[in-house]
Amino acid sequence: MNKRLVYVVMLFAGIFCISVCVSDVIVAGEKGHAHDHDHSKKKHGSLKHGSHNHGKKRHDGHTHTKKRQLDSHEHGVSVLKIASEKNMIEMELESPADDIVGFEHAPENAQQREKISKAIAVFKDKAGLFFPNVEAQCKITKNSAEFEADAGSGHASFHVKWHLSCANLSKIQVLSTSFFKIFPKAKEIEVEVVSDAGQRDIEWDSDQNKIKLKLTK
Ligand SMILES: [Zn+2]
Repeated sequence: MNKRLVYVVMLFAGIFCISVCVSDVIVAGEKGHAHDHDHSKKKHGSLKHGSHNHGKKRHDGHTHTKKRQLDSHEHGVSVLKIASEKNMIEMELESPADDIVGFEHAPENAQQREKISKAIAVFKDKAGLFFPNVEAQCKITKNSAEFEADAGSGHASFHVKWHLSCANLSKIQVLSTSFFKIFPKAKEIEVEVVSDAGQRDIEWDSDQNKIKLKLTK
């Protein structure tokens, strides 16, 4: 009899424990969810007000440079860094994911995953996305593209690199792109050029399909 009683007590204790544990998990989950929600809403709010200081303050605790980059981007505006040395050109594009796929979080379903992989395919097109005029005879030698989402800042971006080797770098006069046609939410590219010709910033608006570019003296 005593043994049976012990088993019964243990059984009840077990059930009690499981129910407590399960409800703890549920409560924790709900809390976590609510927290995430408020958090991202706050971020969006601060973004609308353009309060950059606020965002930076929040990230002082972390030392992720990636986060800071994602935090400071402006939707509609991409940054293209162009650097040239000898016959080589390095191009680095940072675009807000909202401009490219229409959302800024890790993909949550097959449709979103497909949007990302389609965008990556555009960025990794063998022909390129930014074209110096043909007289320069440039060829892509290296190319990488990645999607980066940061749950902390509520932002995501695409980061793309191209290395080009050009037979006649001095013949570069223009750089053309189909970027704005492919991604109509993109409104502007801030181009930063560093070359033998010096340092130059160019504002590339979506109504222009090419800009003047000079990389040699
Ligand atoms: Zn963003």
